[in-house]
Amino acid sequence: MSSENSLSKEDQNPAVDGSELIRFDSVTKRFGSNVVLDEMDFTVSSGKHVTLIGPSGSGKTTILRLLMTLLKPDDGTIKVAGDYLTHEERGGQLVPASENHVREVRKKIGMIFQQFNLFPNMRVLRNVTEAPVHVLGVPKEQAEERALELLEMVGLSEHVNKYPTQLSGGQQQRVAIARALAMKPQVLLMDEVTSALDPELVAGVLDVLRDIAHTTDITMLCVTHEMNFARDISDDVLMFDAGRVIESGAPEKIFSDPEHERTREFLSAVL
Ligand code: ADP
Repeated sequence: MSSENSLSKEDQNPAVDGSELIRFDSVTKRFGSNVVLDEMDFTVSSGKHVTLIGPSGSGKTTILRLLMTLLKPDDGTIKVAGDYLTHEERGGQLVPASENHVREVRKKIGMIFQQFNLFPNMRVLRNVTEAPVHVLGVPKEQAEERALELLEMVGLSEHVNKYPTQLSGGQQQRVAIARALAMKPQVLLMDEVTSALDPELVAGVLDVLRDIAHTTDITMLCVTHEMNFARDISDDVLMFDAGRVIESGAPEKIFSDPEHERTREFLSAVL
């Protein structure tokens, strides 16, 4: 990716000042009798790249789905950039958030999914401009200019007029990355973004994400089994087990000298 098309720090994330961008306070999530998250507390500071690792079923994706408001917590509160996602303040009281309130807070969050989730009936360029134009009210020309820059950044300038089915999985995922960034989110959530890709396409997508991590201050919260990628981009790694963070710290520490036996077992199985 050319540096002149990189996202400038100011452009992408004006609020980077190390303040708390995500806050979970005592969040509990159950599915029937299965307590998936048990009074979970955790925070992510703005500008940080945080990776969630741990065995399947330990609650990592649930964290991302709660932030995307695809799920609601049974208890506790979630804040994004100082605003409650789960609640709103009315007359000095915390009440459950209205749909309008959730929609506003959600604009601060971008997500890249395992399955790309592109609009199949729209060309690549329109996939990237659709939400800025229709959700943020950005003028079409301006949105297209920005989309072309982002598509160049992810190496897809040649493909802007194609439909998603005309692209490889890796290319589709790179469109999804450009589409998420076009909304100028304060935080980018990534859920196993390479797990649906053929092995030879994984590196290209991870390279784009590495570049974004290293050249911007966008806050990232990432669930991944790609441990080398996690090591490269993370400021903090959180090890999940059975709905709890059992260990957290800098990647050098977690990957080289973990404290917890469960972390050691997990890493020896995946590394
Ligand atoms: P991870 O991302 O760490 O693999 P998840 O957050 O996806 O874990 O899942 C945590 C637990 O929640 C698992 O036991 C899973 O079966 C359960 N779970 C997740 N989503 C649902 C759902 N929609 N309905 C019922 N159980 C679910």
